Amino acid sequence: NEFSQPFSDLNGVITELSQADGAYQDLKKFLLGLSGENRSLQASEPVPTQGLNVQNVNFSYVEQHPILKAINFSLASGKTLAIVGPSGSGKSTIINLLMQFYQPDSGKISLNDQTAATVALTDWRNNFAMVLQDSWIFQGSIRENLLFANSAASDAELWAACERAEIAEFIRRLPKQFDTVIGTELMLSYSQQQLLALARLFLKPAKIILLDEASSAVDCFSEIKIQKAIKELSKDKSMLVVAHRLVSIMHADRIILLENGKIQESGSHNELIAAGGKYYKLWQSQYPLAHNA
Ligand code: ADP
Ligand code: MG
Repeated sequence: NEFSQPFSDLNGVITELSQADGAYQDLKKFLLGLSGENRSLQASEPVPTQGLNVQNVNFSYVEQHPILKAINFSLASGKTLAIVGPSGSGKSTIINLLMQFYQPDSGKISLNDQTAATVALTDWRNNFAMVLQDSWIFQGSIRENLLFANSAASDAELWAACERAEIAEFIRRLPKQFDTVIGTELMLSYSQQQLLALARLFLKPAKIILLDEASSAVDCFSEIKIQKAIKELSKDKSMLVVAHRLVSIMHADRIILLENGKIQESGSHNELIAAGGKYYKLWQSQYPLAHNA
């Protein structure tokens, strides 16, 4: 069953790693940062984030099958960048590279002028907090699942994060609340898993937030509230958002339209609408009755 492994599948990466003994501890460190086992991790400050730069990046999972082609973009501190595009266009792959689950075949990814070569992996990853398509909920108590993001968080902080993620009410009704064990005592729906992953986001003190279709499975009432909470959280942070529903990203500082691993268009919503290209067509197909700007 899906709980028999510590993590569900993230393009195969998580499963692979979690099968190796000890890799689980590594995962703790590098996926969600702060871990109880490694105090020095908590003490180390994330690299100051002036900006994330992706320069001419090419990548393939399998030789001869290029997935990302000459990708260029930058994300300045405090800004929001959105990536849209059809399934399989490479959106999640970009996030895989940003997190250094994989290395580019060529090109450069830098954070505040530092590259993978000059920053320890854990420090690099500590710059990011994320809700990805795979929520990485593992068998363990709700508390353990939350503390994964920040082992120093108090119960009050856990409740506050759950409130913001719209899952507090659900947890409060459970007889054992935070001590309820996911996988044995409780099965979570996909959207509940995503909400719990979202609560982690509010617990982790990282400067860059990655959202990969994070609220796509959540009902529209919760989505509105969550987006409000994310917006508040993002005030002093950078965000990279992958989303299907264009209304949820139309206010991004910059939008990239990805197709077949290539950036086809980029600009603000208004610029892309005015250009009348693929983004405009996508917008028209999603919101046929909307005004365009
Ligand atoms: P998106 O997030 O835009 O839907 P992905 O980045 O997940 O797209 O996938 C881009 C392409 O890379 C797809 O063709 C997908 O099949 C392929 N792909 C994704 N993950 C892997 C992997 N671990 N190994 C091989 N191919 C992969
Ligand atoms: Mg994806």
